[in-house]
Amino acid sequence: MLGAIIGDIVGSVYEFGEAMGEDFILFPPNAFFTDDTVMTIAVAEAILTDGNYEKAMLKWGKAYPHLGYGGMFQSWLSGHRKGPYNSFGNGSAMRVSPVGFAFNSEKEVLDEAKRSAECTHNHPEGIKGAQATAFAIWLGRQGESKDVIRTEISKRFFYDLNRTFDGLRFNHSMDETCQGTVPVSMIAFFESRDFEDAIRKVVSLGGDTDTLGAITGGIAQAFYKKIPDDMVQKAMALLPTDIKSIINEFYEMFKAE
Ligand SMILES: [Mg+2]
Repeated sequence: MLGAIIGDIVGSVYEFGEAMGEDFILFPPNAFFTDDTVMTIAVAEAILTDGNYEKAMLKWGKAYPHLGYGGMFQSWLSGHRKGPYNSFGNGSAMRVSPVGFAFNSEKEVLDEAKRSAECTHNHPEGIKGAQATAFAIWLGRQGESKDVIRTEISKRFFYDLNRTFDGLRFNHSMDETCQGTVPVSMIAFFESRDFEDAIRKVVSLGGDTDTLGAITGGIAQAFYKKIPDDMVQKAMALLPTDIKSIINEFYEMFKAE
């Protein structure tokens, strides 16, 4: 989960930008946590308590408004829109990482990822984006190789993961859909050397960088196991106490950050 939060914070200031080199500043003074972090915390809290994802998202979204939520989600948060709204936006994938870290069987991970998505993102692509992201995290936790992760995700979710990262560089633009974001985030991870490199690669693409960072960050954390200490410290310093408490509780419960 912390990997996703770090990816969100690193990507925060580069959102809507053009592609850039990978040697950018990870935590400039204006870096901040966005909706991706807040909704990740909501999913974690639901897992830690009663499993009610909708209730937790409403609670945390109201506590931390105006952090870049999509228009339809904002309307859902404010109560103007009731029930799920058939979204295939990447919000279902950006918030799902705690599911991949908390549950221990393939079935539970896929079922809970679906549940965490469908209170808002009940379009098949919205559910698929959450399931594919959580499942990649789960496979990474089991110590599976990148080849196995790539093959399993392609086979089950029909994403084209055989593109190269260099190829993406020339073809990437702002895209806030699951199907436009999840495979791209995975390809950046597949070609990375370590956690930091994965985050640098995906954020350097530009576009929806906080969400790309969040999706890649969760998967990279699960696979590499280790996030550099300075990245953890810099990100934690930017988080308020209530968010940090959920991160700590989640760690206590699942021995996963
Ligand atoms: Mg965001």
